[in-house]
Amino acid sequence: MIPQAFDYSAPQSLEEALGLLASGDRKILAGGMSLIPMMKLRLAAPAEVVDLGRIAGLDGITEAGGFVHIGAMATHHTVETSPAVRASCPLLAETASHIGDVQVRNMGTLGGSIAHADPAADYPAALLALEAEIRVVSAHSDRTVNAADFFLDAFTTALEPGEIVLEVRLPVEQSSEGYGYEKVAHPASGFAVVGVAVRITREHGRIIMARIGVTGMGPHAFRARAAERLLEEGAAPERAAAVVGEGEEANSDLYASADYRRHLARIHARRALAVALSRAS
Ligand SMILES: Cc1cc2nc3c(=O)[nH]c(=O)nc-3n(C[C@H](O)[C@H](O)[C@H](O)COP(=O)(O)OP(=O)(O)OC[C@H]3O[C@@H](n4cnc5c(N)ncnc54)[C@H](O)[C@@H]3O)c2cc1C
Repeated sequence: MIPQAFDYSAPQSLEEALGLLASGDRKILAGGMSLIPMMKLRLAAPAEVVDLGRIAGLDGITEAGGFVHIGAMATHHTVETSPAVRASCPLLAETASHIGDVQVRNMGTLGGSIAHADPAADYPAALLALEAEIRVVSAHSDRTVNAADFFLDAFTTALEPGEIVLEVRLPVEQSSEGYGYEKVAHPASGFAVVGVAVRITREHGRIIMARIGVTGMGPHAFRARAAERLLEEGAAPERAAAVVGEGEEANSDLYASADYRRHLARIHARRALAVALSRAS
Protein backbone atom coordinates (compact mmCIF):
# COMPACT_ATOMS: atom_id res chain seq x y z
CA MET A 1 0.00 0.00 0.00
CA ILE A 2 3.02 2.31 -0.22
CA PRO A 3 3.73 3.75 -3.67
CA GLN A 4 7.11 3.50 -5.30
CA ALA A 5 9.18 6.66 -4.66
CA PHE A 6 8.32 9.50 -7.06
CA ASP A 7 9.06 13.16 -7.66
CA TYR A 8 6.34 15.77 -7.37
CA SER A 9 5.94 19.04 -9.22
CA ALA A 10 3.20 21.64 -9.01
CA PRO A 11 3.44 23.94 -12.04
CA GLN A 12 1.82 27.36 -11.77
CA SER A 13 0.84 27.66 -15.44
CA LEU A 14 -0.53 25.45 -18.21
CA GLU A 15 2.54 26.13 -20.38
CA GLU A 16 4.82 24.95 -17.58
CA ALA A 17 2.74 21.79 -17.09
CA LEU A 18 2.68 20.98 -20.82
CA GLY A 19 6.44 21.53 -20.99
CA LEU A 20 6.96 19.01 -18.19
CA LEU A 21 4.59 16.48 -19.76
CA ALA A 22 6.32 16.71 -23.15
CA SER A 23 9.02 14.29 -22.00
CA GLY A 24 9.94 11.81 -19.28
CA ASP A 25 7.91 9.33 -17.26
CA ARG A 26 5.41 11.81 -15.82
CA LYS A 27 1.74 11.50 -14.90
CA ILE A 28 -0.84 14.16 -14.25
CA LEU A 29 -2.39 14.37 -10.80
CA ALA A 30 -5.91 15.86 -10.75
CA GLY A 31 -8.21 14.76 -7.90
CA GLY A 32 -6.02 11.72 -7.17
CA MET A 33 -9.10 9.51 -6.62
CA SER A 34 -7.92 6.95 -9.18
CA LEU A 35 -4.21 7.72 -9.62
CA ILE A 36 -3.24 7.51 -5.94
CA PRO A 37 -4.92 4.10 -5.36
CA MET A 38 -3.27 2.82 -8.56
CA MET A 39 0.12 4.04 -7.32
CA LYS A 40 -0.44 2.50 -3.91
CA LEU A 41 -1.28 -0.83 -5.56
CA ARG A 42 1.79 -0.30 -7.79
CA LEU A 43 -0.36 -0.61 -10.91
CA ALA A 44 1.13 2.80 -11.79
CA ALA A 45 4.63 3.89 -10.86
CA PRO A 46 5.44 7.19 -12.59
CA ALA A 47 8.85 8.74 -11.94
CA GLU A 48 7.14 12.11 -11.42
CA VAL A 49 3.65 13.34 -10.68
CA VAL A 50 2.60 16.69 -12.17
CA ASP A 51 -0.12 18.24 -10.02
CA LEU A 52 -2.53 20.46 -12.02
CA GLY A 53 -4.15 21.73 -8.82
CA ARG A 54 -2.12 24.97 -8.57
CA ILE A 55 -2.96 26.22 -12.09
CA ALA A 56 -5.63 28.89 -11.92
CA GLY A 57 -8.60 28.73 -14.28
CA LEU A 58 -8.62 25.04 -15.22
CA ASP A 59 -11.88 24.44 -13.34
CA GLY A 60 -14.00 27.24 -14.84
CA ILE A 61 -17.48 26.79 -16.28
CA THR A 62 -18.67 29.27 -18.91
CA GLU A 63 -21.37 29.46 -21.57
CA ALA A 64 -20.55 30.87 -25.01
CA GLY A 65 -21.50 30.28 -28.64
CA GLY A 66 -24.24 27.78 -27.82
CA PHE A 67 -21.88 25.61 -25.75
CA VAL A 68 -21.19 25.11 -22.07
CA HIS A 69 -17.41 24.89 -21.53
CA ILE A 70 -16.34 22.95 -18.44
CA GLY A 71 -12.69 23.04 -17.38
CA ALA A 72 -11.03 19.65 -16.85
CA MET A 73 -10.32 20.37 -13.17
CA ALA A 74 -13.99 21.04 -12.30
CA THR A 75 -14.88 18.56 -9.56
CA HIS A 76 -17.88 16.27 -9.76
CA HIS A 77 -19.48 18.38 -7.01
CA THR A 78 -18.95 21.56 -9.05
CA VAL A 79 -20.48 19.92 -12.14
CA GLU A 80 -23.42 18.65 -10.08
CA THR A 81 -24.18 22.03 -8.48
CA SER A 82 -23.16 24.55 -11.17
CA PRO A 83 -26.20 26.70 -12.08
CA ALA A 84 -24.94 26.88 -15.70
CA VAL A 85 -24.63 23.10 -16.04
CA ARG A 86 -27.96 22.48 -14.31
CA ALA A 87 -29.71 24.94 -16.59
CA SER A 88 -28.01 24.12 -19.89
CA CYS A 89 -26.82 20.48 -19.58
CA PRO A 90 -28.94 19.00 -16.79
CA LEU A 91 -28.11 15.45 -17.91
CA LEU A 92 -24.45 15.98 -16.95
CA ALA A 93 -25.34 17.53 -13.58
CA GLU A 94 -27.64 14.60 -12.85
CA THR A 95 -24.95 12.11 -13.87
CA ALA A 96 -22.36 13.79 -11.62
CA SER A 97 -24.71 13.40 -8.66
CA HIS A 98 -24.54 9.60 -9.11
CA ILE A 99 -20.74 9.38 -8.78
CA GLY A 100 -19.27 7.62 -5.73
CA ASP A 101 -19.78 9.42 -2.44
CA VAL A 102 -19.42 12.99 -1.15
CA GLN A 103 -15.65 12.69 -0.65
CA VAL A 104 -15.10 11.36 -4.18
CA ARG A 105 -17.36 14.06 -5.66
CA ASN A 106 -15.46 16.77 -3.77
CA MET A 107 -12.03 15.61 -4.98
CA GLY A 108 -12.53 13.85 -8.34
CA THR A 109 -12.55 15.88 -11.54
CA LEU A 110 -14.31 15.67 -14.90
CA GLY A 111 -11.00 15.64 -16.79
CA GLY A 112 -9.49 13.00 -14.51
CA SER A 113 -12.50 10.74 -14.82
CA ILE A 114 -12.64 10.77 -18.61
CA ALA A 115 -8.85 10.53 -19.04
CA HIS A 116 -8.83 7.53 -16.71
CA ALA A 117 -11.65 5.91 -18.76
CA ASP A 118 -12.69 3.33 -16.20
CA PRO A 119 -15.20 1.05 -17.98
CA ALA A 120 -17.61 1.61 -15.06
CA ALA A 121 -17.31 5.42 -14.89
CA ASP A 122 -20.55 7.40 -15.12
CA TYR A 123 -19.60 10.47 -17.19
CA PRO A 124 -18.83 8.67 -20.49
CA ALA A 125 -22.49 7.63 -20.94
CA ALA A 126 -23.67 11.23 -20.56
CA LEU A 127 -20.89 12.69 -22.73
CA LEU A 128 -21.86 10.30 -25.54
CA ALA A 129 -25.57 11.11 -25.24
CA LEU A 130 -24.75 14.83 -25.16
CA GLU A 131 -22.40 14.56 -28.18
CA ALA A 132 -19.71 16.34 -26.18
CA GLU A 133 -16.48 17.65 -27.63
CA ILE A 134 -13.27 17.20 -25.66
CA ARG A 135 -10.48 19.76 -26.13
CA VAL A 136 -7.05 18.22 -25.65
CA VAL A 137 -3.79 20.13 -25.74
CA SER A 138 -0.08 19.40 -25.58
CA ALA A 139 3.05 21.55 -25.86
CA HIS A 140 2.71 21.28 -29.66
CA SER A 141 -0.98 20.70 -30.43
CA ASP A 142 -4.52 21.82 -29.70
CA ARG A 143 -7.31 19.60 -31.03
CA THR A 144 -10.91 18.63 -30.39
CA VAL A 145 -12.06 15.02 -30.15
CA ASN A 146 -15.73 13.98 -30.26
CA ALA A 147 -16.78 11.91 -27.26
CA ALA A 148 -17.70 9.10 -29.68
CA ASP A 149 -14.04 8.91 -30.76
CA PHE A 150 -12.50 9.43 -27.31
CA PHE A 151 -13.26 6.24 -25.35
CA LEU A 152 -11.37 3.48 -27.18
CA ASP A 153 -11.07 0.61 -24.70
CA ALA A 154 -10.85 -0.11 -20.97
CA PHE A 155 -8.62 2.61 -19.49
CA THR A 156 -7.68 3.67 -23.03
CA THR A 157 -8.58 6.95 -24.71
CA ALA A 158 -7.62 8.91 -27.81
CA LEU A 159 -5.13 10.96 -25.73
CA GLU A 160 -1.60 10.92 -27.17
CA PRO A 161 1.52 11.05 -24.96
CA GLY A 162 2.00 14.56 -23.58
CA GLU A 163 -1.65 15.55 -24.14
CA ILE A 164 -4.03 16.64 -21.43
CA VAL A 165 -7.78 17.13 -21.35
CA LEU A 166 -8.27 20.89 -21.11
CA GLU A 167 -12.04 21.22 -21.29
CA VAL A 168 -15.29 19.53 -22.24
CA ARG A 169 -17.74 21.39 -24.48
CA LEU A 170 -21.43 20.53 -24.43
CA PRO A 171 -24.15 21.92 -26.66
CA VAL A 172 -26.72 23.93 -24.69
CA GLU A 173 -29.82 21.78 -24.32
CA GLN A 174 -32.90 22.86 -26.26
CA SER A 175 -35.93 23.53 -24.09
CA SER A 176 -37.89 20.74 -25.83
CA GLU A 177 -35.34 18.06 -24.89
CA GLY A 178 -35.84 15.38 -22.26
CA TYR A 179 -33.08 13.47 -20.50
CA GLY A 180 -32.50 10.70 -17.98
CA TYR A 181 -29.67 8.72 -16.40
CA GLU A 182 -30.42 5.35 -14.84
CA LYS A 183 -27.76 3.23 -13.21
CA VAL A 184 -27.14 0.07 -11.21
CA ALA A 185 -24.52 1.19 -8.72
CA HIS A 186 -21.99 -1.25 -7.35
CA PRO A 187 -22.91 -1.45 -3.64
CA ALA A 188 -19.33 -0.93 -2.42
CA SER A 189 -17.89 1.77 -4.71
CA GLY A 190 -20.89 3.28 -6.45
CA PHE A 191 -19.32 2.64 -9.87
CA ALA A 192 -21.81 1.77 -12.63
CA VAL A 193 -22.35 -1.96 -13.07
CA VAL A 194 -24.40 -0.52 -15.92
CA GLY A 195 -25.47 3.08 -16.55
CA VAL A 196 -27.60 4.43 -19.40
CA ALA A 197 -27.91 8.10 -20.34
CA VAL A 198 -30.67 9.21 -22.70
CA ARG A 199 -31.40 12.49 -24.45
CA ILE A 200 -34.42 12.92 -26.73
CA THR A 201 -36.35 15.61 -28.56
CA ARG A 202 -40.06 15.13 -29.15
CA GLU A 203 -42.19 16.97 -31.69
CA HIS A 204 -45.97 16.51 -31.94
CA GLY A 205 -45.62 13.46 -29.72
CA ARG A 206 -42.95 11.82 -31.95
CA ILE A 207 -39.31 11.34 -31.03
CA ILE A 208 -37.30 13.15 -33.70
CA MET A 209 -33.86 12.88 -32.03
CA ALA A 210 -32.56 10.20 -29.68
CA ARG A 211 -29.09 9.74 -28.22
CA ILE A 212 -28.28 6.86 -25.88
CA GLY A 213 -24.93 6.36 -24.10
CA VAL A 214 -24.19 3.14 -22.21
CA THR A 215 -21.43 2.66 -19.65
CA GLY A 216 -20.40 -0.26 -17.44
CA MET A 217 -21.63 -2.97 -19.79
CA GLY A 218 -18.52 -3.39 -21.95
CA PRO A 219 -14.84 -2.48 -21.97
CA HIS A 220 -15.71 1.10 -22.93
CA ALA A 221 -18.81 3.27 -23.11
CA PHE A 222 -20.71 3.22 -26.41
CA ARG A 223 -23.67 4.77 -28.25
CA ALA A 224 -26.66 2.48 -28.73
CA ARG A 225 -27.12 3.60 -32.34
CA ALA A 226 -29.55 0.86 -33.45
CA ALA A 227 -31.91 1.77 -30.60
CA GLU A 228 -31.56 5.49 -31.41
CA ARG A 229 -32.51 4.80 -35.05
CA LEU A 230 -35.55 2.73 -34.08
CA LEU A 231 -36.81 5.52 -31.82
CA GLU A 232 -36.36 8.11 -34.57
CA GLU A 233 -38.30 5.82 -36.93
CA GLY A 234 -41.22 5.77 -34.51
CA ALA A 235 -40.65 2.47 -32.68
CA ALA A 236 -41.98 2.12 -29.14
CA PRO A 237 -39.38 2.71 -26.38
CA GLU A 238 -39.70 -0.93 -25.24
CA ARG A 239 -38.82 -2.18 -28.72
CA ALA A 240 -35.87 0.19 -29.06
CA ALA A 241 -34.55 -0.61 -25.58
CA ALA A 242 -34.62 -4.32 -26.43
CA VAL A 243 -31.77 -3.90 -28.95
CA VAL A 244 -29.46 -1.88 -26.67
CA GLY A 245 -26.08 -3.62 -26.45
CA GLU A 246 -26.73 -5.85 -29.48
CA GLY A 247 -23.38 -6.69 -31.11
CA GLU A 248 -21.40 -5.04 -28.31
CA GLU A 249 -18.86 -6.88 -26.17
CA ALA A 250 -20.02 -7.26 -22.54
CA ASN A 251 -17.85 -7.63 -19.44
CA SER A 252 -18.20 -10.55 -17.10
CA ASP A 253 -16.86 -10.56 -13.53
CA LEU A 254 -17.65 -11.81 -10.05
CA TYR A 255 -20.38 -9.23 -9.69
CA ALA A 256 -22.30 -9.61 -12.98
CA SER A 257 -22.11 -11.92 -15.98
CA ALA A 258 -22.02 -10.57 -19.54
CA ASP A 259 -25.62 -11.69 -20.15
CA TYR A 260 -26.84 -10.04 -16.95
CA ARG A 261 -25.05 -6.78 -17.82
CA ARG A 262 -26.67 -6.77 -21.28
CA HIS A 263 -30.06 -7.41 -19.65
CA LEU A 264 -29.48 -4.54 -17.20
CA ALA A 265 -28.51 -2.21 -20.04
CA ARG A 266 -31.86 -2.88 -21.74
CA ILE A 267 -33.91 -2.51 -18.57
CA HIS A 268 -32.17 0.73 -17.66
CA ALA A 269 -32.43 2.08 -21.21
CA ARG A 270 -36.20 1.59 -20.93
CA ARG A 271 -36.26 3.35 -17.56
CA ALA A 272 -34.07 6.23 -18.71
CA LEU A 273 -36.26 6.63 -21.80
CA ALA A 274 -39.38 6.77 -19.64
CA VAL A 275 -37.82 9.53 -17.52
CA ALA A 276 -36.63 11.43 -20.61
CA LEU A 277 -40.08 11.19 -22.22
CA SER A 278 -41.73 12.52 -19.08
CA ARG A 279 -39.37 15.51 -19.15
CA ALA A 280 -39.58 16.28 -22.89
CA SER A 281 -42.06 19.02 -23.56
C1 LIG B 1 -14.28 5.02 -3.52
C2 LIG B 1 -14.42 5.54 -4.94
C3 LIG B 1 -15.65 5.45 -5.56
C4 LIG B 1 -15.81 5.92 -6.87
N1 LIG B 1 -17.05 5.81 -7.45
C5 LIG B 1 -17.20 6.26 -8.72
C6 LIG B 1 -18.49 6.19 -9.36
O1 LIG B 1 -19.49 5.77 -8.79
N2 LIG B 1 -18.57 6.64 -10.63
C7 LIG B 1 -17.48 7.15 -11.31
O2 LIG B 1 -17.63 7.56 -12.47
N3 LIG B 1 -16.28 7.24 -10.73
C8 LIG B 1 -16.11 6.81 -9.46
N4 LIG B 1 -14.89 6.91 -8.86
C9 LIG B 1 -13.74 7.47 -9.64
C10 LIG B 1 -13.71 8.97 -9.48
O3 LIG B 1 -14.76 9.53 -10.23
C11 LIG B 1 -12.38 9.62 -9.89
O4 LIG B 1 -12.55 10.94 -9.52
C12 LIG B 1 -11.99 9.63 -11.34
O5 LIG B 1 -11.91 8.36 -11.88
C13 LIG B 1 -10.59 10.21 -11.54
O6 LIG B 1 -10.59 11.59 -11.40
P1 LIG B 1 -9.45 12.33 -10.60
O7 LIG B 1 -9.67 13.77 -10.83
O8 LIG B 1 -9.44 11.86 -9.20
O9 LIG B 1 -8.14 11.89 -11.42
P2 LIG B 1 -6.74 11.33 -10.92
O10 LIG B 1 -6.96 10.15 -10.04
O11 LIG B 1 -5.90 12.42 -10.41
O12 LIG B 1 -6.18 10.85 -12.34
C14 LIG B 1 -6.71 9.72 -13.00
C15 LIG B 1 -5.94 9.49 -14.30
O13 LIG B 1 -6.24 10.50 -15.25
C16 LIG B 1 -5.05 11.26 -15.59
N5 LIG B 1 -5.51 12.65 -15.67
C17 LIG B 1 -6.06 13.39 -14.67
N6 LIG B 1 -6.45 14.58 -15.14
C18 LIG B 1 -6.11 14.61 -16.45
C19 LIG B 1 -6.28 15.59 -17.49
N7 LIG B 1 -6.85 16.78 -17.28
N8 LIG B 1 -5.83 15.28 -18.73
C20 LIG B 1 -5.24 14.08 -18.98
N9 LIG B 1 -5.06 13.12 -18.05
C21 LIG B 1 -5.52 13.38 -16.79
C22 LIG B 1 -4.05 10.96 -14.50
O14 LIG B 1 -2.73 11.06 -14.96
C23 LIG B 1 -4.43 9.53 -14.14
O15 LIG B 1 -3.85 8.64 -15.06
C24 LIG B 1 -14.69 6.47 -7.56
C25 LIG B 1 -13.44 6.55 -6.93
C26 LIG B 1 -13.30 6.09 -5.62
C27 LIG B 1 -11.97 6.21 -4.97
